[in-house]
Amino acid sequence: MIINVHSHLIHRNMWSEYFWDRNANIFSEAMNVPKDVLIKTLFPRIVNAHAERYVEAMDDAGIDVGIVNGTDWGMSAAGEAKWSVEEQNQWVNQQVSEYPDKLYAICAVDPRRGDKAIKLVEKAVNEWSMIGVKFHPTAGYYPDNPEFFPFYKKCVELKVPIFSHTSVFSVPFMEGKYADPIYLDSVAARFPDLKIVMLHFGGLPWVLKCVEIMNARHNVYTEISGWQSRAFFETDYFLKLLHKMFNSASLLTPLKDRIMFGTDWPLLETVLEQKDWVEWIKDIPEKAEEYNLKFKRSNIKKLLGLNAKEFLNL
Ligand SMILES: [Zn+2]
Repeated sequence: MIINVHSHLIHRNMWSEYFWDRNANIFSEAMNVPKDVLIKTLFPRIVNAHAERYVEAMDDAGIDVGIVNGTDWGMSAAGEAKWSVEEQNQWVNQQVSEYPDKLYAICAVDPRRGDKAIKLVEKAVNEWSMIGVKFHPTAGYYPDNPEFFPFYKKCVELKVPIFSHTSVFSVPFMEGKYADPIYLDSVAARFPDLKIVMLHFGGLPWVLKCVEIMNARHNVYTEISGWQSRAFFETDYFLKLLHKMFNSASLLTPLKDRIMFGTDWPLLETVLEQKDWVEWIKDIPEKAEEYNLKFKRSNIKKLLGLNAKEFLNL
């Protein structure tokens, strides 16, 4: 069973026009492609990331279950979108409900919205059957802010995990410093019954920090999307890292049971297509021989889906 715990459904109205325009400017300059060409070619692949297209891509890759979300950029420098955060999540819910048992959604919300955020999560879980919460701290907040503690209490009460971005990489004009996983460590310490997923395994600067946090906290998990290009170009490093995860002794639940698979579809499709990422992971035991590392196929199965199945009670 293959479960992708990190993917997005995207509609133009869920993010502000300023967000789209500024990204178009940044990418057109960085890629040396005229803005109008970029808008016509790359953007449709991202803007029209609806459930139907995602399920096709999942089938193509052999992925059985996808966990999807939007992203609440409304309080960031991007500004509020045409749709409110509630409308955005409602749209995601409508999309997902067309594919029961195949797609599940988590509620994207910025905890700075205070009571409104708490009410939205209650509605998302109780009325829309959403199974978690998505944070993107690069929008401008440290997750350990005491003002968010009532929000975390509510998540514990509702028994839903928090999925939080941990990587310097984000939308170009968001701020990486807020995504340092050490702030999630503080939340995990204060709320031992709250489960937290460090998305992207910390990226390159924080990956070892993520490993240490997982060693210290029983309630912290991770997911490997964002490592597609590194796995390819720094294969040695990535395989050693996974090997450490699969073989490290921990007094708590072993790390090999707390690492999950993700693709960040459709955002990294230009880096490596989802189906190739799945194949890359499946081939690890063979690939690793070249580096004198031994991988058990049973651990690869845990990474690809069994850990997520258990974590999400699917
Ligand atoms: Zn993502």
